[in-house]
Amino acid sequence: MTEEVIKLKGIPASSGIAIGKAYIWAKEEFIVPKESITDEEIPTQIQLFEEALIRTRREILDLQKKISSEMGQGEAQILDAHLLVLEDRMLIEEVIARLKKEKLTVAYIFQDVLKRYIQVFLKIEDEYLKEKVSDINDVGRRVLRNLLGRVPRRFDDLKEKVILVSHDFSPSDTAAMPKKNILSFVTDIGGKTSHTAIMAKSMAIPAVLGLEVGTSTIKSGDMLIVDGTAGYVFINPTLEILEKYKKEETLFRNLSQRFVQLKDLPAITLDGKRVHIAANIELPDEIPSVLEHGAEGIGLYRSEFFYMNRSDLPSEEEHYEAYKFVAKAVGDNSVIIRTMDLGGDKFASQLKIPHDMVPFLGWRAIRFCLARPDIFKMQLRAILRASVFGRLRLMYPMISGIEELRQANQILEEAKKELREKGLKFDENIEVGVMIEVPSAAMTADILGKEADFFSIGTNDLIQYSIAVDRTNEKVAYLYEPAHLGVLRLIRNIIEAGHNANIWVGMCGEMAGDATFCIILLGLGLDEFSMPSAVIPEIKHIIRSVTTKQAKEIADQALSLSTAKEVEDFANSKLLELNLL
Ligand code: PEP
Ligand code: MG
Repeated sequence: MTEEVIKLKGIPASSGIAIGKAYIWAKEEFIVPKESITDEEIPTQIQLFEEALIRTRREILDLQKKISSEMGQGEAQILDAHLLVLEDRMLIEEVIARLKKEKLTVAYIFQDVLKRYIQVFLKIEDEYLKEKVSDINDVGRRVLRNLLGRVPRRFDDLKEKVILVSHDFSPSDTAAMPKKNILSFVTDIGGKTSHTAIMAKSMAIPAVLGLEVGTSTIKSGDMLIVDGTAGYVFINPTLEILEKYKKEETLFRNLSQRFVQLKDLPAITLDGKRVHIAANIELPDEIPSVLEHGAEGIGLYRSEFFYMNRSDLPSEEEHYEAYKFVAKAVGDNSVIIRTMDLGGDKFASQLKIPHDMVPFLGWRAIRFCLARPDIFKMQLRAILRASVFGRLRLMYPMISGIEELRQANQILEEAKKELREKGLKFDENIEVGVMIEVPSAAMTADILGKEADFFSIGTNDLIQYSIAVDRTNEKVAYLYEPAHLGVLRLIRNIIEAGHNANIWVGMCGEMAGDATFCIILLGLGLDEFSMPSAVIPEIKHIIRSVTTKQAKEIADQALSLSTAKEVEDFANSKLLELNLL
């Protein structure tokens, strides 16, 4: 009897085919029985506790070292908060006192004390303390594992290449992963613009996210096919399906290799129109991949990652060193630093930004910066100071109208004045752009264009705001359509307004790196495309295969259609006709 092949549908978050064994990455839960101990056993239980704390501390320090060498020191600081939990005297003393009094095993008491701590933290109306809960949970699990003498589960147990399946991956999970052994990501939650999706693209591996039932259906060791282009995951496929996908995988790989040969050529249409292809980065460590894939500089440096996973604020010097490094690394090309875009789905506990009821519409990005000019100005000074080492530009996120642009520019002027007073050099003519990602900004792009040096369209947010669809919610992911005519008309409006104001218009949302929409965007007149490095060669290949006239005709036809599906089918049929699919 043959077992039925299960095919799950999720969100195609990073294209390509992966075939391999599943490895379920689940958070461990321990069941600790309530067991009594005798008076004589108390000293050994205390010793067991002390040893478990020491071992846990050593484990965390080792992990920090590993992360630091692979991803840099900033990422390693994620674990500083974990070390602090281990040193909490109150917690340690309470465990020992209760152990002596209640005469129960130290594992049981420790787990009980931890539970109570977490309950207390969850009740306090303080977002900072609430965020501490996941640190306490993480460290608690490590200590319990050591108390129970269990073998630690670590990513580096992975001896072979696997497809990682999890409910979700946190930024600290992805930071600790041995990248070379990961074929693909599969998750229950998350969408196209989640951290896992962005990470998969930068690692150039396929990913299918938001399967909902992935971890409850797939078992470790199952043979999987992940089709990151169509969004399917096959569990234990038949030989026939396997053969078909092996062929597709080879085709995809050959195609990617062909594209890679083009990586250093300019993105120039058949009739000579040149556009710029830049890369999106979150951390300076991504620079080697940026250079490898032939990016012409950085179109989006998501500087807020600098503030995440750490317990203190980055100093002006740290900002400065990072921006200087990136500016120098890309040589003559430009780097667009997006000023910090915290809030929404990106939180930094040390800034105590509250989790609003509707976070994406709340106190975030430029709104937070304008309310905290001290923090904002520190970043602006660092960007300005680093601007003497290369071609730095800056842009503000989430601008909703001209007043915000003016207020931000006023703070920028203050930062410049402070530097002049100190005799510090900077690029006096640094270009200042506006991210157009709020519909009100898209509709007033003509007004903004008069006071901005460039626009960069942030489609990830623009789509969620114009269609009113939470970009992180897999339940409404079917509504998240870049080709919705409402979105395409906004994009056309932004590009036209920018050109009428004599400024260039780029795009740094995920749509810019999506092959399906490339010709349409080119036809609408987009000047710069910024995307995860790995997709750059493919997009260059498409641009180098059409004329501006063809692209314009395709864009005009696409915008005369009615539904996103019609636009996508039409765009893909054109790619097929042009032998680009
Ligand atoms: C966007 O919104 O399109 C964008 C590039 O910014 P982020 O994804 O960081 O919100
Ligand atoms: Mg955005």
